[in-house]
Amino acid sequence: MAEHEWMNAIRPLVGKQYGRVYAWDKINAPMIRQWCEVMGVDDAAYTVEGAVVAPPAMLQVWCMEGLKPNNYPPGSTDENPYEALKLFEAQGFPSVVAVNSELSFVRPVREGERLYYTTRLDAISEEKTTALGTGYFVTLVMTYFSQQPQGDDEPVGELLFRVFKFRPASASAPAQPKADAKAPAPARRPLPGISDDTRFFWDGARAGQLLIQRCKACGTLRHPPGPVCPSCHSFEWDTVQSSGRGTVYSFVVMHYPEVPPFEHPNPIALIELEEGTRLISQLVGVAPGEVRIGQAVQVEFNTFNDGELVLPQFRPVLDAAGAPA
Ligand code: ZN
Repeated sequence: MAEHEWMNAIRPLVGKQYGRVYAWDKINAPMIRQWCEVMGVDDAAYTVEGAVVAPPAMLQVWCMEGLKPNNYPPGSTDENPYEALKLFEAQGFPSVVAVNSELSFVRPVREGERLYYTTRLDAISEEKTTALGTGYFVTLVMTYFSQQPQGDDEPVGELLFRVFKFRPASASAPAQPKADAKAPAPARRPLPGISDDTRFFWDGARAGQLLIQRCKACGTLRHPPGPVCPSCHSFEWDTVQSSGRGTVYSFVVMHYPEVPPFEHPNPIALIELEEGTRLISQLVGVAPGEVRIGQAVQVEFNTFNDGELVLPQFRPVLDAAGAPA
């Protein structure tokens, strides 16, 4: 099929080289030891003092930004090697999934070396339709170098990173962007996969009820829903309606990637209901930085996608003074 005209602004990026991103730290034994510990690598060869060699699979670690987004060492490029993905978003392809991450190595890196990498936008596929949706495979290749005193820097390895940038199959296609249209149609929320085991939960939400599955044989409550009681293995079950009251058992605040239609930062919590089961839900009515473990919350039911989807969400309970209870 013929390529969309708007690809004329994206396709020429193929082959583009992006500048250097430096490592914060030289190859060093403490980072190697910690990485091995976290990854469960027991090979002491990596951690011997003296001739310390980094595990090859650590290659990507050395030039990472750390916890703060885009916090790269001085001298690193300001260019965004993911600029093509932003351009696809503007054309109504909001979702992204990593599909390949392939490391290759030229030689081991040793303690004291300092690395940097450069990025090449290697390829953009034709438009493809997969089970996930319709979109484009975008391939980036990061080449890692060891800085040498005379400037004869040596390549030490490569990371091929491929993503699929797509419009979800469950989302209705936005209207074709017109030449003068700035914003694409708003993205819709992905729909849950509903089975015979889980249908009651979504039907309940639509009726404004938060339902919990209960074993008919032993009375044990369970969530997420499933066909068998984990306590007594009975297949018989019914449901009870939750009060909708609970507390924040744990949470994350999603900053990146920014995927429409969600607002970011996006607080997502594991709620412990007062009946004892836990469920994952989005928090509303709270600033992302103010979520606290143990915070009292109350369910509410909100409608999305023009009435197609009703989701239970949780809002902090406030005391008489308006402070979180
Ligand atoms: Zn049971």
